[in-house]
Amino acid sequence: MLRDFHEQERTGEGSHGAGEEINPGIGEFEAAEDEIGGGADDAQRENNGDGGCVCAGLVEAELLKQWHGEHTAARTEQAIHDTDENAAEGREKFLLHVASMPRIGMAMRGCTMVIIRFKLRRALWGASAVAAVFALTVLGVHLAREATKEVVVEESYVVPVVLIDAGHGGEDGGAVGVDGLVEKDLNLGVALQLDWFLRALGYETVMTRCEDCDLHSEEAGNLRERKRSDIQARFAMMEALSEDDLFVSIHMNKFGQASARGTQVFYSTNLPQSAVLAESIQCSVVRLLQPNNSRQVKPSGDEIYLLYRAQRVAVLVECGFISNAAEAVLLQDEAYQRQMAFAIAVGVLDYHE
Ligand SMILES: [Zn+2]
Repeated sequence: MLRDFHEQERTGEGSHGAGEEINPGIGEFEAAEDEIGGGADDAQRENNGDGGCVCAGLVEAELLKQWHGEHTAARTEQAIHDTDENAAEGREKFLLHVASMPRIGMAMRGCTMVIIRFKLRRALWGASAVAAVFALTVLGVHLAREATKEVVVEESYVVPVVLIDAGHGGEDGGAVGVDGLVEKDLNLGVALQLDWFLRALGYETVMTRCEDCDLHSEEAGNLRERKRSDIQARFAMMEALSEDDLFVSIHMNKFGQASARGTQVFYSTNLPQSAVLAESIQCSVVRLLQPNNSRQVKPSGDEIYLLYRAQRVAVLVECGFISNAAEAVLLQDEAYQRQMAFAIAVGVLDYHE
């Protein structure tokens, strides 16, 4: 019953050539391509609203400093990811994660690398902020004296945004694995953990969904229309991203051959950077979590609608096979979901270096 929903379930064997199993669901959305982008107004991300411009004719030095202080504080708060109330919980989760990694030595090195990179990133941003304060102050004093021309001051740095797409949701359960295991909840579990790690690493994040729901509009009628509306909403959120932002979709795979297992990352072919991001995430997962996984990243055709139409850097991570009994057990385990999310987050970080 849910088969029609699951627009991109494929075999992970695809990169090896044989046994490709393409779910037919996506074909029905081709007719809606012209409509894509026309809906989902609520999906527009708040971005670039008031952060970049200062009208020099109106601003004196003191006001300028005040503005920048508030701006920097807001950015810093975002980068740190969490407020004081859950900082303790965050530390506990991070330590739990490290303690539960099967390849602890490698994981510790990975954590150390991440922390160092995070600190470097923070330091760079801090340096940028100091430079920006100095430049803005000098500029403000100058302009207050002159009080003539209108000048636009651009932001000195841009925090990349990662749009995290937890696949399926609500009435769309996605793939069904061993013992009736439903995909959508596992996707959300990994996506929420990924959101946590990326924020800890200084990224801004947006999630297509944070709970068990789908994104179709009220007007959508039958099942087919609701599914089409849901995909349109996710696509509109991706369209709202800026050029440097990323789209990462989280899914679980399934295959008729129960032995198939292992993470595999698919990428959009519309921008070459998508393949780079996919490779980075695949390598990170293999290095940190699945040393025996020999799967290769794979370009997406029109069987994955969101990647096929993407005009942003876009990948889809098939975290594992819920049709494989052993991997299905792992994928349901919160600690493993956290490890998977951590490995994906490190892959995103590697992409930017
Ligand atoms: Zn799926």
